[in-house]
Amino acid sequence: MIPAIFILLLNISSQTIKTPGEFLGYEPGTQFTFHHRAVEYFRYVAEVSALAEYREYGKTYEGRPLGVCIVSSEENLANLEEYRKNNLIKTGLLEGEFTGKQVPFIWLAYNVHGNESAGMETAMKTLYTLVTRSYPGSDEWLRTCIIIIDPCQNPDGRDLFANRYRNSQALIQNPDGKSWEHNQGWPGARSNHYFFDLNRDWTWQTQTESTQRLALYNQFMPQVHADFHEMGAESTFFFPPGAEPWHEVITPWQHEFHKLMGKGNAQLFDEKSRLYFTKENYDLFCPSFGDTWPLFNGAVGFTYEQGGGGYSGLSLKLETGDTLTLKKRIDGHFTATMATLRVACENRTRLLEEFNRFFSDNMNKPSFRYKSIIIKGSNDKNSLEDLFSLLTKNQIRYSYAGNTGKKYKGFDYLANAEGEVTIEKGDFLISAFQPQSRFMQVLFETDSKASDSLSYDLTAWALPYAYNIKTYAVEDQIKGLPDKTIPETVMNHTDTGKPYGYIVDYTGFNTLKFISALTRKNIRARYSLKPFTSGGKNFNRGSFIIARGDNSNAGNKIDAVVTELANKYQVVLNRAETGMVEKGKDFGSEYSPVVKKSNVAILCGDGISAGPAGELWYMFERELDYPVSLINISNRENLDFSGYDVLLLVSGNYSKIRDTIVDFAKKGGRVVAFENAIQMFASDKSTSLSKAIATRTEELKASELKVKSDDPSLLKKFGDEDRHLLSERSAGSIYKVVVDTTNPFGFGLGREWFVMKRTQAYPFLPRGNNIGYITDNKPVAGFAGYKYQKLIKNTLVIGSEKTGNGEVIYITEDPYFRAYWKSGRALVWNTVFR
Ligand SMILES: [Zn+2]
Repeated sequence: MIPAIFILLLNISSQTIKTPGEFLGYEPGTQFTFHHRAVEYFRYVAEVSALAEYREYGKTYEGRPLGVCIVSSEENLANLEEYRKNNLIKTGLLEGEFTGKQVPFIWLAYNVHGNESAGMETAMKTLYTLVTRSYPGSDEWLRTCIIIIDPCQNPDGRDLFANRYRNSQALIQNPDGKSWEHNQGWPGARSNHYFFDLNRDWTWQTQTESTQRLALYNQFMPQVHADFHEMGAESTFFFPPGAEPWHEVITPWQHEFHKLMGKGNAQLFDEKSRLYFTKENYDLFCPSFGDTWPLFNGAVGFTYEQGGGGYSGLSLKLETGDTLTLKKRIDGHFTATMATLRVACENRTRLLEEFNRFFSDNMNKPSFRYKSIIIKGSNDKNSLEDLFSLLTKNQIRYSYAGNTGKKYKGFDYLANAEGEVTIEKGDFLISAFQPQSRFMQVLFETDSKASDSLSYDLTAWALPYAYNIKTYAVEDQIKGLPDKTIPETVMNHTDTGKPYGYIVDYTGFNTLKFISALTRKNIRARYSLKPFTSGGKNFNRGSFIIARGDNSNAGNKIDAVVTELANKYQVVLNRAETGMVEKGKDFGSEYSPVVKKSNVAILCGDGISAGPAGELWYMFERELDYPVSLINISNRENLDFSGYDVLLLVSGNYSKIRDTIVDFAKKGGRVVAFENAIQMFASDKSTSLSKAIATRTEELKASELKVKSDDPSLLKKFGDEDRHLLSERSAGSIYKVVVDTTNPFGFGLGREWFVMKRTQAYPFLPRGNNIGYITDNKPVAGFAGYKYQKLIKNTLVIGSEKTGNGEVIYITEDPYFRAYWKSGRALVWNTVFR
């Protein structure tokens, strides 16, 4: 029995919860809220309301808290753990007894792009509305559903935006799009600390915000996930159904629910006479996003897009003459939020049935043609570990393969052809008979099936190419072995017998981490340009040698330091008794150059693509643990590259500092130019690249590829414009790259490497080195237009040439694409340290 006074207090407290405006001290929509204030509001509401529970799930790179509010009836919250477990038991991802209680989890996610800032403001309004049950029907929503609100998936980006806006805003709201507050500069606040687009990171989870958020997601596995974005200010509002192409694993129910959600939104938007569109632009194909990833994980995933974004500020004069305000943007997202909850709640029975069916079908009758993926145990250990880490984050199960010694017909990914595989001890299996079967299909399908080729993003992503691992897709069902222990740990013991040195074979990226760690401790290593035999063992080109004679500074501590780091990075040390090899070149030969202790700079700033610059920044700091300087080229007058050994130039325009860069190279520096940063050297008549391009242009003019003035292909229809553009480009497709394995820049890539191809074709270099090149017209996976295919055969991907006393390395693509293209790390490392 609760004393009457407490009942009274409870009633009062639910009525006296402060609105966001009362809490913040300004009316929502009149100011951009700092992230910490929104967190305070979420914590406050969870404290004063029995209908909300705050849960912190992590921290951003810059130390800001990540958290959600879980909102439902008191009774549901009291049984939250039971509901959560039951839901997971139904997916098959958790073992246990289903107790019969299941309600839908609805996940509302805001502000994944920092400058799409109506999101977090809307989240506060949504939370208030729900805990005060002040929207028609909301009482029932809370009784029958559990709602999870993530107000801000990208706090670092969000605060960068809010700080800059407040820093530049006029005293009187200024709708003039030319003014400073509407134009914030480099880097955009869309991304996170390392300039990553977190809405391209769902599957790959390279960034700490994604990893921590999806660990929480996996604890709940919601039935509905809505992701709130903003698009260009002149656009109206986008809500579902999503656009073509839809990935073929998306179920009929997921299609149908998209339509229901569209109708539910249309009703509320019509009531307000608001304009909107559906079925355009935002397709459901590539697994990177906050709509597709949930769809492949059994939920119905949605993207919402309000016209607005960072440029809009608090108010913006539009081309139509109307003024777009933050208040109006908040209203758009709030309306869509209410529609989402209403439609989800109305269809809750069906949502649960279909969700449960999704997973039972996955386990019992997988749709994937291939029932077993066989991954050879002989692949680089580190590449395997990287792949397994990705699978684990996505709850995809793997094991050792059974049926040792049996031969199967199957698709050989790296050969891109039908082949045969014999299962050997230590090979791995990913079976299609598992809870995450559809998602596993998406990540391993040999040819992604889309209902249309016009995709918003990539058209290929098959994991064996990204990791460059020997893998086969087999139609037979193969059983796994129960033992799932992944490659055993390496344990070297300190050698007190003062060996001549140590040899380390290249076994993947950890080897390079180990060498960089030694370099930081001033321990010198060499690498061999030729294969050699020492102590009866054969070593590949690129193997490392740590010789006592190179490291007299370290004295006798060298053995302990080398051993400790080798164990840390799980690298096997081979003792060398002598510097004289049995076969190949001796350790002291000029064929065994010393690894450089390079001072590295990544250029950044206005005109430079932030994303690829951030990828390299992230790789050096977070993957390699090696210091790197980011040099902002906007500060042109004071640019001085004299202290650096290597400049990394990602895609961007360097025309204003061209002379400084060329001068750096001519004086002996090394410049690595990625993607269109190459243009700087393509337009320099003294380079081999420029000559090659001139020759190629002449050849094309003379060839059949030349278009005559009366060519019917010029008669493009206005309505087909997008499709014509497609014929000339590669829509994020994967190409095979043949590698010169004798060139040190190619070490660790294998004979054949794979690249996410997105840029134009570059010709072979007449002088200099052609290190990696494409020899086919067709990609191994994904879409490339027919005109593009004609031009791409026999073109360059990796090349180098001397200039003055220095060197320029061309890499025509982004080899470490979005930080998940792990096989490209070795290439970047080589260009810096070899
Ligand atoms: Zn967005």
